[in-house]
Amino acid sequence: MKNVKKAATLDKVVALCKRRGFIYQSADIYGGLNGIYDFGHLGILLKENIRNAWKKSMEQCDAGDILFIEGALLGPKAVWEASGHVSHFHDPMVDCMNCKHRFRADHINLEKACPDCGIKKWTEVKQFNMMFKTELGAVAGSSTEAYLRPETAQAIFTNFKNVMSTNRVKIPFGIAQIGKAFRNEITPKQFLFRMREFEQMEMEWFCKKENADKFFKFWEEARINFFYHIGINPEKLRLRAHGKNELAHYSTKCSDVEYNFPFGWQELEGIAHRGNYDLSQHTKHSGKELAVFDEETKKSYIPDVVECSVGVDRLFLTLLFDSYCQDIIDEEERTVLKFSPMMAPIKAAFLPLTKKQLEQTEKIYKQIKKIENNVMFDVSGSIGKRYRRQDEIGTPLCFTYDFDSDNDKMVTVRDRDTTQQERISIDQIAKYLENKLKS
Ligand code: ATP
Repeated sequence: MKNVKKAATLDKVVALCKRRGFIYQSADIYGGLNGIYDFGHLGILLKENIRNAWKKSMEQCDAGDILFIEGALLGPKAVWEASGHVSHFHDPMVDCMNCKHRFRADHINLEKACPDCGIKKWTEVKQFNMMFKTELGAVAGSSTEAYLRPETAQAIFTNFKNVMSTNRVKIPFGIAQIGKAFRNEITPKQFLFRMREFEQMEMEWFCKKENADKFFKFWEEARINFFYHIGINPEKLRLRAHGKNELAHYSTKCSDVEYNFPFGWQELEGIAHRGNYDLSQHTKHSGKELAVFDEETKKSYIPDVVECSVGVDRLFLTLLFDSYCQDIIDEEERTVLKFSPMMAPIKAAFLPLTKKQLEQTEKIYKQIKKIENNVMFDVSGSIGKRYRRQDEIGTPLCFTYDFDSDNDKMVTVRDRDTTQQERISIDQIAKYLENKLKS
């Protein structure tokens, strides 16, 4: 096998996702909506693996307890006024007066011509609030203004006291959440990279101010290790500390875990020391006391927060780019997603060599499915075609029942990455699969 690894491009990854049913443009038959996507069967499985791996990394954290919540998607205006989103959650927007295309002013060079039409005729830069506003209630004039949340974190802050008192935890501890967020991005682009409806995995770590630096370092290391652990190429990952001019006014430190996407190094996850800004703001705006009592000093204080925030969809896209590969097998080019077995949506496929072995293969498939749910049975097309199909969706192992299997009670197992095949006994399949999934 000649391994001429061809790099992933955005177009190739988008086409594969559609072809194999990972992702569809939402409301496609009506022309779709920009920056909004639906996930198909394989997409859901991959997302589930991402969420599970993240959840496990939180549950097994060495620093202390992490509790989970699931906040509502809609929130009253008061929450977003307190958090600063009503007045500050803006992006600078500019229009090209010639082609009427809209851009984020900080993403283009306004000294130069429009990248779409080549004419330099810009409007003034305007500030655009990215929150989706709606109204609750049916009676005109008495409805309540509400917003779809632009980040999941605020539900953690507003529930801080509820979580602390009902779970009897002590500082330091964390509250984590996975859920949808909505941003009216001016220019949704690069597929799952910048969407208008997306999912976040956020964890707020509450600690004393004097320990915040120590925990910030802890989380920087823990989060980059998480990406190594799920199989992302370390050479394509880096931690980048924000310069002073990039920091929010309440934040003293912020680092991004960046990935080297085909469109350059970009944020995958943000780690921020937010001081005690959020809890202080909610104390001020709600009038409810969110300080905690320190048994040692006998004084109340508002804890500091170190936040770790990563997008499920952005990580999904990262995994696709990182695992995508084109190589030559038997003088034929194949596309393969080299996911780590832990992240692969389908762990193994069971393939009868011909229709004659269908029944026996299906019997094995059903037995294994009781142990590992995410396995597939595939009978249509030549065996070569079926291998390619499994390669394209990143299935680590294919078990083929062939003409000899009835006699020798063995199957052929093929490794996705090396394409090497070996024969193993049928009663060893479960163990073989288990070992592969551990690797
Ligand atoms: P950017 O500077 O790219 O607009 P941000 O700094 O506003 O992002 P955060 O508010 O820090 O992003 O969001 C935390 C994480 O949520 C990001 O690291 C990213 O993984 C994810 N995320 C943010 N916005 C989007 C989006 N529009 N589409 C998909 N994922 C997103």
